[in-house]
Amino acid sequence: MDYQVLLYYKYTTIKDPEAFANEHFALCQSLNLKGRILVAEEGINGTLSGLTEDTEKYMEWMQADERFKDTYFKVDKEEAHVFRKLFVRPRGELVALNLEDDVDPLKTTGKYLEPKEFREALLDEETVVIDARNDYEYDLGHFRGAVRPDIRNFRELPQWIKDNKEKFMDKKVVTYCTGGIRCEKFSGWLLKEGFKDVSQLHGGIAVYGKDPEVRGELWDGKMYVFDDRISVEINHVDKKIIGKDWFDGTPCERYINCANPYCNKQILASEENEAKHLGGCSEECSNHPDNRYVKKNQMNTKAV
Ligand SMILES: [Zn+2]
Repeated sequence: MDYQVLLYYKYTTIKDPEAFANEHFALCQSLNLKGRILVAEEGINGTLSGLTEDTEKYMEWMQADERFKDTYFKVDKEEAHVFRKLFVRPRGELVALNLEDDVDPLKTTGKYLEPKEFREALLDEETVVIDARNDYEYDLGHFRGAVRPDIRNFRELPQWIKDNKEKFMDKKVVTYCTGGIRCEKFSGWLLKEGFKDVSQLHGGIAVYGKDPEVRGELWDGKMYVFDDRISVEINHVDKKIIGKDWFDGTPCERYINCANPYCNKQILASEENEAKHLGGCSEECSNHPDNRYVKKNQMNTKAV
């Protein structure tokens, strides 16, 4: 385990995101880091992998800068890089919520719940816990009893809340996401919409899974991550698999990309079902002339 994966964000003011992104790219490159960093006037959001000593140097550099000095880094030990390239990109906003009136989380955001308080909220019947992520993330794993908004993408969340407002208006509302950044804005927006009692899981699911006391309890499945690992374990107490095999619906947590390079759909499938369907998500993909599974295994057969 010579490598580390960092996940972090910081809402702060970066005056010239474009110039900052260029300098920051050079810094990360000099430390042989890989990953994805977004820079906006409202702050920074990143996930990186690198040798432990290089990631430590990066964190020291960040903490030496007044703007980022109290950035909280979530750190995973790994055996290798989990990204293939390095991107540092200037953006208009750190998370895309499609808001008419933007929210400044430094001024308006929900109360922070630490893992233990969040676990209590999960068990409280008067509290509604809302998953603030994309649907495919929820489907691989989520907190027990959490509301799954009927949306494809996180940016549709505000409209979905508006359409379902009467269900949640009088309750305590708690939101959670992977590392906490999406909730900073989303919970602030809920307050602006008139919700009275709004909280968010501080540091997100990533912190909850590492907390020595709660140890990920009441989380079902795995957590989707946006790197080569695809998913990581959260619950170290009473783990349950909730992912389902694309082909036969049996419990499954093994992600593959459809073998048709023009489809590439990410699906859950056992090794056995992958072989049976030649890695294709549909009959068309299974029998596609450029099927990667067929090429890799040098077969000349048709899918069953
Ligand atoms: Zn396909």
